[in-house]
Amino acid sequence: MPTMPEPTSTSVVVTPDQRPNSWGFGDGQEIPWEYAPAPEARDIVTLKERYGLFINGRSVPATGGGTFVSIDPSTELPLATVAKATDVDVDKAVRAARRAQRRSWGQLSGRERAKYLFRISRILQERSREFAVLESMDSGKPIKESRDVDVPLAANHFWYYAGWADKLDYAFPGRVAKPLGVAAQIIPWNFPLLMLAWKIAPALAAGNTVVLKPASTTPLSALLFADVVQQADLPPGTVNIVTGPGEIGMHLATHPDVDKVAFTGSTEIGKKIGRGVAGSNKALTLELGGKAANVVFDDAPLDQAVEGIVNGIYFNQGEVCCAGSRLLVQESIADTLVDKLKDRLSTIRVGDPLDKNTDVGAINSKAQLEKITELVASGVAEGADLYQPACDLPERGYFFRPTLFTNVAQSHRIAREEIFGPVLSVLTFRTPDEAVEKANNTRYGLSAGVWTDKGSRILEMVSRLQAGVVWANTFNKFDPTSPFGGYKESGFGREGGMHGLHAYVRLEDR
Ligand code: NDP
Repeated sequence: MPTMPEPTSTSVVVTPDQRPNSWGFGDGQEIPWEYAPAPEARDIVTLKERYGLFINGRSVPATGGGTFVSIDPSTELPLATVAKATDVDVDKAVRAARRAQRRSWGQLSGRERAKYLFRISRILQERSREFAVLESMDSGKPIKESRDVDVPLAANHFWYYAGWADKLDYAFPGRVAKPLGVAAQIIPWNFPLLMLAWKIAPALAAGNTVVLKPASTTPLSALLFADVVQQADLPPGTVNIVTGPGEIGMHLATHPDVDKVAFTGSTEIGKKIGRGVAGSNKALTLELGGKAANVVFDDAPLDQAVEGIVNGIYFNQGEVCCAGSRLLVQESIADTLVDKLKDRLSTIRVGDPLDKNTDVGAINSKAQLEKITELVASGVAEGADLYQPACDLPERGYFFRPTLFTNVAQSHRIAREEIFGPVLSVLTFRTPDEAVEKANNTRYGLSAGVWTDKGSRILEMVSRLQAGVVWANTFNKFDPTSPFGGYKESGFGREGGMHGLHAYVRLEDR
């Protein structure tokens, strides 16, 4: 693994003996404090020893019997053995999806499809704790995030699109909305169940059938979802799930009998998929990387902004495509804001993802931890000032301290490249024009944030920032009714809302 260079004279890493361990109440009165462990019980989850592929409504082994192991990134211990699909299995899954599209799911009325989707949403709600615990075990994200964000939002997406299934005539007035057919959907590891819901719910609502490939480090919530599909009694073949390496993702995306490809992941693989499907008639949506600017003006409510900045970059260990990884602060308030941020960072709790008090859990994989470590080392080597609060990291597992860089230049790699980790780069600006110039100075364009007291300034900034989503005086807010997607190398197409439905229909004249 790449190692970090020795901190320079301007680097600050607060050591454990420097951190406060008591609340001072003046006059020598001090009350020592520490959080007691508050682990969520794991026994709600029954892990199978082996998971098969989910094809045509049944769990089946991979052709040739190949398997791989999914591990818990917070302990590095194996969780389960999962079937490793081959191209032959992908072909079977696509055939099953085509059959269901022609004969069963594709023949249902919108009203009937809606009933199934409502049923899935209800089951996700009923089994929410099971999903939340499994998701945290497999991905490393804190339980309070999987419990309060990922799983409820996933259920909401099914609920929301269930509502559209019998109202397509109203969604697209004057046109006839027809399903595209079979959708190939490839999802990443940062929000495994939520990305599944973003992809599957609108596809099914519009009458398509799907073959979904989850990321290899986080296959388990998708395989538990297969259970939900059975429980909801969906016609066999409507939803198929194939687990295995990236190459089967390419075979799936370029399969001649696939009509629509939806991909979320790195820009690099997104470009490969774009090239792979070019010249075919497939519809394509790509949701790729980001390097969002979070812009704070001198009239912003600073304490509120600090919470938004922390949420923007340390939520989900910073493994978020729309993370506010570049903080642009107006020069006159930069010192004050950075001091407040450092104070706030000292209270962030890093550790066991299943502990209900954990703010930052485990990095998803060893490879991702290495990538973060290497990029942070480049920040130090290129001359930025590193700050990391004191916190004891667990001895095992893939953990990384929340990190803040000041004195960052736009040319630094940490200001240009997607780190996908809990690392914030702070830059400054003097005028709104300079803020816009710097915010847009990136190959990405997925999201941005603006913090100011002035409504007129928000509107001005929103119209000038090249980003698919701009949050004002908040960050990382998601809702099924609201479209999400990017510009430039962050991809194209929108997920969520009516825009998300549009990506799964062919509109014909009446
Ligand atoms: P990838 O883009 O490689 O993975 C995303 C999905 O694509 C996974 O299901 C993966 O499968 C699959 N995949 C991999 N190779 C191919 C291929 N050739 N054809 C089709 N599908 C493929 O992301 P990584 O996991 O490698 O992460 C690398 C970087 O990408 C991160 O550091 C981060 O910067 C960025 N990223 C961005 C995300 C976003 O939401 N925008 C999400 C994840 C990563 P498998 O897991 O089996 O390899």
